[in-house]
Amino acid sequence: SWHGLHSFSEASARGFSSEPSLQADSTEEIGFKGHGMLAPFTAGWQSTDVHPLVIDRSEGAYVYDINGKKYIDALAGLWCTALGGSEPRLVKAATEQLNKLPFYHSFWNRTTKPSLDLANDVLNMFTAREMGKVFFANSGSEANDSQVKLVWYYNNALGRPKKKKFIARSKSYHGSTLISASLSGLPALHQKFDLPAPFVLHTDCPHYWRFHLPDETEEEFSTRLANNLENLILKEGPETIAAFIAEPVMGAGGVILPPKTYFEKIQAVLKKYDVLLIADEVITAFGRLGTMFGCDMYNIQPDLVSVAKALSSAYMPIAAILVSPEIADVVHSQSSKLGSFAHGFTYSGHPVACAVAIEALKIYKERNITEHVNKIAPRFQEGIKAFSGSPIVGEIRGLGLILGTEFVDNKSPNDPFPAEWGVGSIFGAECEKRGMLIRVAGDNIMLSPPLIMTPDEVEEIVSKYGGALKILRKELR
Ligand code: PLP
Repeated sequence: SWHGLHSFSEASARGFSSEPSLQADSTEEIGFKGHGMLAPFTAGWQSTDVHPLVIDRSEGAYVYDINGKKYIDALAGLWCTALGGSEPRLVKAATEQLNKLPFYHSFWNRTTKPSLDLANDVLNMFTAREMGKVFFANSGSEANDSQVKLVWYYNNALGRPKKKKFIARSKSYHGSTLISASLSGLPALHQKFDLPAPFVLHTDCPHYWRFHLPDETEEEFSTRLANNLENLILKEGPETIAAFIAEPVMGAGGVILPPKTYFEKIQAVLKKYDVLLIADEVITAFGRLGTMFGCDMYNIQPDLVSVAKALSSAYMPIAAILVSPEIADVVHSQSSKLGSFAHGFTYSGHPVACAVAIEALKIYKERNITEHVNKIAPRFQEGIKAFSGSPIVGEIRGLGLILGTEFVDNKSPNDPFPAEWGVGSIFGAECEKRGMLIRVAGDNIMLSPPLIMTPDEVEEIVSKYGGALKILRKELR
């Protein structure tokens, strides 16, 4: 029998919480019932009586809601608060900059020292290959939008007006603006938004467990995907394909690691047809995988890179795109010819955001953040992967401090639980009840905790995960 359905309609309304009544008093008090916010990636707040979970303050790896309940923030906000929720040096950097110069822009050859310094810091930190220039934006979505404009500008400058199409991958997440949502390979981002834009094509999701053929090895799977990519390029005409964009490890799509030899084979195809490679490192940059960048982990030599999130440990909104010297040169001469590189945002290189990011990068280096991640990650990975044998777990996958779990019946990718059972949502609600916040997407759940976690906090996540899994298992029996 199924006992979870009862709580599910409420659970689904908030993504995963099943205890709306917990919040009722205080949310009503401060006027949240039927509140005025059109909230991102949320459904039904006005049409049901489900109150939002209102987070009030943070401390280290923990956040507290307005009722004072404590949660371990096992998603680091949205995969972003790498240094946790109370790093005083970031607060100091912001405060000092706010007092000195809260704002000046970077248009028309005017700029500020923090933005100049941060650009150099980012360039020095990225060592997978030499990069030439950095452009600042305010979000990962804006960064990826800027990538597309930059690539079009570049190909126009080179006299290749047809080379404009982008290839992204199914299940990728690149953001939610018009162009970045188009690049994203998640149907929900396209449905009823008239997306994706026609210049975006999607190729295979590199998820070995779900998509490999019987008896196909990881290497053979990678070869097949590289061949499919090559065939897509040939079918469309290589002269029309501008760039390929990929997350080194897919995040929101379910934490999907590239199979063995994947990036090696994909890069060979891209090189053959003069297709640029954009690494979307919005989640993977700055230590999450145990290397400073995902490109280091997988030997990726990109032409362009997007970073955001941990760039400022999310204390201020900021993103950056790293541009290869070759592309930077072409953009430079084209903009000289036209009189301007007419792209940018009021807040590109915002001095306060840059000051915070400079300090965050300094902390990553001083505290040797990758070494710390490599110290705690094995227990985090092994502790959770010890639950892989559970009959309701299809696959647990991850690397460093990122991890995904997919719930299925019969241990088979082809036997999903009925969507209306809300299996992932029940798990998320059980975690929340126990004081742990995670990401739920269908029957995929994801963890991406702050990098600064202590070994005890790792144990707490493992134990709360285990507790939630036990209840879910019982509900499904
Ligand atoms: N790219 C990746 C890989 C992401 O995970 C995200 C956000 O989760 C984005 C881009 C979009 O970033 P933002 O939400 O800052 O626009």
